[in-house]
Amino acid sequence: MRTCLLCEQEFVPPIYFAPIFSFKQSRSTRICSHCLQKFQKLTGNYCSFCHKEMDQGLVCLDCKKWQQMYPNNVLHNHALYHYNLAFHDLMVAYKRRGDYVLREVLQELCYEYLIKTDYDYYVPVPTSPEHQDRRQFDTIFAVYGDILPLTPLLKKKTGSHAQGEKNKQERLKTPQSFFIDSAVELDESIKTGKILILDDIYTTGRTLYHARDCLRRDFPKAKIESFSICR
Ligand SMILES: [Zn+2]
Ligand SMILES: [Zn+2]
Repeated sequence: MRTCLLCEQEFVPPIYFAPIFSFKQSRSTRICSHCLQKFQKLTGNYCSFCHKEMDQGLVCLDCKKWQQMYPNNVLHNHALYHYNLAFHDLMVAYKRRGDYVLREVLQELCYEYLIKTDYDYYVPVPTSPEHQDRRQFDTIFAVYGDILPLTPLLKKKTGSHAQGEKNKQERLKTPQSFFIDSAVELDESIKTGKILILDDIYTTGRTLYHARDCLRRDFPKAKIESFSICR
């Protein structure tokens, strides 16, 4: 028996049979099936750029705006889940209350997908220094650092407020607040490598476009995409 990290009920974890010669460690389930089913996977028709679920069409309204700003260079984002109430509650508990153990729930939602990806560099979107001081950990780094080899190339300037406290119009007007950490040692391969930027939620795309722009300034020939658990 195990205790669910979300509802605190006891549950019997399902048994997985991992291949004997698999090098990938199998992960233990941390939430019960009742809680897991509250997270709604993205299925059906979705935007070919940002993975937003849509009734019809190829490009969502957000990406149509990005197409005007970045002709021929719209960011390709991969996402797995809907931003619904269950996800909202999880993120409030994780980010606002700083409940570190909940990173394991987020890991559970994206682990199977991410271990099959094949990028040369995984770059997390950094938390602002003020938020990191308050929570004592970087929320994005904590989720992905146990799953993937991270290259923490991006840093966030002090005094740049978190996106979560703004409305949509304010978010879109947010100025660039990322810069490259020159202390991170890199080899030449990054110049033409495949980079995946990692965030938790894609809301307007503003944060991820800033992160991408920042990387592209230094590595214009790299192939840069992004991943967010939610869209
Ligand atoms: Zn539960
Ligand atoms: Zn889109």
